[in-house]
Amino acid sequence: NFGKPDYQAHAEEFEMLAKGAGAEVVATVVAKRDKPDAAYFIGSGKLEEAVQLAQSSDVDIILFDQALSPAQQRNLERAFNLRVVDRVALILDIFALRAKSHEGKLQVELAQLQHLMTRLTRMWTHLERQRGGIGMRGPGEAQLEMDKRMIGDKVKVLRERLSKVERQRTTQRRSRARGGTMSVSLVGYTNAGKSTLFNALTRAGAYAADQLFATLDTTTRRIWIEGAGQVVVSDTVGFIRDLPTTLIAAFKATLEETVQADLLLHVIDASSPQREEQILEVNKVLEEIGAKDIPCILVYNKIDAVGYEPKIERNEEGRIVRVFVSALDRTGLDGLRGAIAEAKEIIGNNVASLKN
Ligand code: GDP
Repeated sequence: NFGKPDYQAHAEEFEMLAKGAGAEVVATVVAKRDKPDAAYFIGSGKLEEAVQLAQSSDVDIILFDQALSPAQQRNLERAFNLRVVDRVALILDIFALRAKSHEGKLQVELAQLQHLMTRLTRMWTHLERQRGGIGMRGPGEAQLEMDKRMIGDKVKVLRERLSKVERQRTTQRRSRARGGTMSVSLVGYTNAGKSTLFNALTRAGAYAADQLFATLDTTTRRIWIEGAGQVVVSDTVGFIRDLPTTLIAAFKATLEETVQADLLLHVIDASSPQREEQILEVNKVLEEIGAKDIPCILVYNKIDAVGYEPKIERNEEGRIVRVFVSALDRTGLDGLRGAIAEAKEIIGNNVASLKN
């Protein structure tokens, strides 16, 4: 963590990420440096400490909360004599584990191949420089070129399939909009409780777990709310700090669902000491995907964990801006439903026309 004062919180979040990938965390080492070491990312003292720790405990894998260069990864694997996985590969791994829908799986595979491709290219330049080209050309080079071409072909096929799936989804969305149904999207930081709230609102048994990325694919359900009528609720992929840009691009289709919503419910973990930072992070992503002008209600979840009572807060114009709930205890949900109904009235009953 280069000069970041809140490294403890980041370390905890990274542990949660690791658990999300199915790892059991044996030990965490925090390294503080001004800039990464070119060969090993961390300094020699820290490396020695970590290697000793790994040897004295029953460790199978080393995870880094940063992106490593292929060379750093290789050097570290040699030093530890263990597999080393960086943050980007770890997140990809979790995505692969969590992808449920056809589209989600395609997106993950595409992101993985693209990640692999950049590694191959970098590995290639690295080798090129090292050997000076003379007397070293041969099977290695040809193999790399072939790998690259094969991956390139696969990427093309995946892209075509994805755009087909996206077209189908757009058609579905249009027919929904014609019906004048309001669409509501749950957004928020990972682990804020979106899946739990989604289930509480729709009373369905979708998967909620104490892991990041329990929600990878957008799940959509139709519910009926007193005063609002038919409402389509979507649960979206959880946002996370420093999401690799390659992944943001790959998951744009999932996030696009969010951009189309009439109303956003920004779910916040009220019990997290990092909640302010997380709110900003989510707002940043919303701005990036062009969703910042969509009407939004802040839903402070997990009030049971901090001993708050359910309540509703309005701004000076009387509009509801904050709703306090516990998705787990299912308290404050009537208030939230009421807030959705009020929002629908403000947005206007003819929601479909607002989108064009
Ligand atoms: P998501 O990543 O935003 O979809 O979060 P989940 O719905 O998977 O919830 C993450 C964790 O928070 C799970 O362990 C939930 O049981 C827990 N959780 C969700 N809502 C509440 C709540 O209202 N109170 C408490 N105490 N825990 C909650």
